[in-house]
Amino acid sequence: MAQIHEYDAVIVGAGGAGLRAALEAGRRVKTAVVSKLYPTRSHTGAAQGGMCAALANVEEDSWEWHAFDTVKGSDFLADQDAVDIMCKEAVDSVLELERMGLPFNRTPEGRIDQRRFGGHTSNHGEAPVKRACYAADRTGHMILQTLFQQCTKFGVEFYNEFFVLDLLMADGVCSGIVAYELATGRLHIFHCKSVLFATGGYGKMFKITSNAHTLTGDGPGVVYRAGLPLEDMEFYQFHPTGLYRLGILLSEAARGEGGILRNGEGERFMERYAPTIKDLAPRDMVSRAEFFEIKEGRGAGPDKDCILLDLTEVDPEVIEKKLPDITEFARTYLDVDPVKEGVPIVPTAHYAMGGIPTNVQAEVLADHTGAVVQGFYAAGECACVSVHGANRLGTNSLLDIVVFGRRGGIAMAEYASTHPLPPLPEGAEKASEKWIAALCDGGSEESTASIRATLQDEMMDKASVVRTEDSLSSVLSTITELRKRYEVCRVKDRSKIFNTELVEHIELGFLLDMAEALVVAARARTESRGGHYREDHQMREDDHWLKHSFITRTAAGDTKLHHKDVTMGRYEPVERKY
Ligand SMILES: Cc1cc2nc3c(=O)[nH]c(=O)nc-3n(C[C@H](O)[C@H](O)[C@H](O)COP(=O)(O)OP(=O)(O)OC[C@H]3O[C@@H](n4cnc5c(N)ncnc54)[C@H](O)[C@@H]3O)c2cc1C
Repeated sequence: MAQIHEYDAVIVGAGGAGLRAALEAGRRVKTAVVSKLYPTRSHTGAAQGGMCAALANVEEDSWEWHAFDTVKGSDFLADQDAVDIMCKEAVDSVLELERMGLPFNRTPEGRIDQRRFGGHTSNHGEAPVKRACYAADRTGHMILQTLFQQCTKFGVEFYNEFFVLDLLMADGVCSGIVAYELATGRLHIFHCKSVLFATGGYGKMFKITSNAHTLTGDGPGVVYRAGLPLEDMEFYQFHPTGLYRLGILLSEAARGEGGILRNGEGERFMERYAPTIKDLAPRDMVSRAEFFEIKEGRGAGPDKDCILLDLTEVDPEVIEKKLPDITEFARTYLDVDPVKEGVPIVPTAHYAMGGIPTNVQAEVLADHTGAVVQGFYAAGECACVSVHGANRLGTNSLLDIVVFGRRGGIAMAEYASTHPLPPLPEGAEKASEKWIAALCDGGSEESTASIRATLQDEMMDKASVVRTEDSLSSVLSTITELRKRYEVCRVKDRSKIFNTELVEHIELGFLLDMAEALVVAARARTESRGGHYREDHQMREDDHWLKHSFITRTAAGDTKLHHKDVTMGRYEPVERKY
C-alpha cells in the first residue's frame, strides 16, 4: 500500500524553476516539493554564464531591445506575448534575487555587473550589449542556493530522492502524483489540488551533452504517456563550446569576455558567418558553422574534428577571476591551459526548447486549441511557454525559470485556494505498482546500458546539428527497435534500497519517449529554423511553417501531430542576419 500525503500544492523538481514556484506557493498554501535529487544537486546549479535583464547598469539597454533579440534569436517562433512578459519582468526578478542575498559580481560603483552574451544586442542588432548578470561562472549555483534557503525559511516541505512516476487525473482534473522513494522502494501518493512539473531537460538522449546524468525528460515523459501533447520537440539546442569528446560545457561567457573561435587554419571563421557580432552570434548559427568547418576539412586537432576556443588574448586576470570554473575544467579534463593555448571544443547537446506546452500563467495546455488541464502547471526547461521558439539565447533560461517559476507558483496557489481537493482516481498507485513489479520480475539478456548507448550514438549521428529525411527515418526505425528491446528488458538488482539500476531503467524509458517525439516532429518539419536544420530543406518557410508543433501519443502507441499558431506581436519575421 502506498503512503498518502495531502497538500494544496505539489511541485515536482527542485531546480531553479521548482524552487522559485515553491517559494510563491509556500507563502500562500501548504506546499511540498518532490525531487529525485537533493535540491542543490539539480542541474540549475551547473549553470555558469549568467541571467539576463535589461538593467542598463553598464551600457544603455531596454527591455524592448531584449524582447527583440529573444524573438529574432528564436527564429520568430517564440510567442511574443510571453517574450514581452519575460523581458519586462526580468529586471524585478534579478533585483528580487539580489535582495534575497544572491552574491552577484559588482561594478566598481557597487551595482550588479553585466557582461556580453550571444545574440544580445543594443538597438535591434547594432552591436553586442552587456545584459547578463552573473556570479563569476557559478551563477546557477548561487541561484539554487539562494532559492533553497528562502524555501526553507518559508516552511516548504521537501521530499528528496523521491522519483515521480505518474500523474493522477480524475475526470480531467489533476489530483496528484505517484512517487517512488529511492531509500525504501515504497510508493507514495501525493494527493493535492495543484501540481507543477519543473523536471528540467533531456539532453541525455545524445552522446555528447552538457547535461547531467539525471536529465532524462521524466516530466514530459509522464505527460506524453498520459496522452497529453508536447510542443516543439524538434527544436533541440546544441551549444557551440562543449569540451572535445566530453561535452562538458565551457560557458558562452568565455566569448562574452573576449574569447574567439578558430578553425584548424587559425581563421576566425565566424567573421564569414555573422560579420556584425561574429563569435557572439546565437548558438544555433555558431554550432552549425562549426559543423560545416569540420565537415569541409577545416577542423583543428590531429583528426581535424574539433574547433579551438582561443582565450589567449583575454587578460589572464579576467580569466582567473570571472571564468575560474571553466578554466579548471579545461585544465583538469583536457590538460590544456586556456591562458596559453586554444581549448578543443565541439557542439554539445544542451537545451530543450520544446516540452510541456503552457500558457503564460504556466497552466498546462490540454491540446493545440489552448484548453488547459485543470490544476496542472509546468515551468522551466521541461515546459514550453514558448519564449525560446526555435532557438534559445544564452542567459534566457535562468531568466525563464525564475519568471515563469514565480508565475506558476502564484497561479497554482491561487487555484488551490479556490478549489476543493479533487478525488483520487480508483487504485491510484496500481499502474505504478504493476510496472515496478514487472520490471523486477524475471531475467533478460537485454541491458539498459546497451540500449541507452545505441540511442545516444544514433541520436548524435542522425538527429543533432544537421538532419535529413534519410537520417531521421533511419533513427526512427532504430528507436522503434530499441523500444521493443526495452519492453523485454528486466533489471537484475531486485533490492528495495537505492536501486539505481531500476531508476536508470525507468529513465531510459522516458528518454526513448523524448527521442521518439523529437524525431517524429523533426521529420515532419520540412524547413530549417533555429536549432532544427534540415540539409534537404535548408530554407525557413514562414508561409507554411510559422507554427508550433504539438505531438501526442495515442493509447495504441501511434503518434499524432497538430499545429498551433505563433502569437505574433511587434516583430514581423525577417531574414536573420547578424
Ligand atoms: C552546464 C550548463 C550550463 C548552463 N548555463 C546556463 C547559463 O549560464 N544561463 C542560462 O540561462 N542557462 C544556462 N543553462 C540552462 C539552465 O541552467 C537550465 O535550463 C535550467 O537551470 C533548468 O532549470 P529547471 O529548474 O527547469 O530544471 P533543473 O535545474 O534541471 O531541475 C530539475 C529538477 O527536477 C527533478 N526531477 C526530474 N525528474 C524527476 C522525477 N522523475 N521525479 C522527481 N523529481 C524529478 C530533479 O531532481 C531536479 O530537482 C545551463 C545548462 C547547463 C547544463
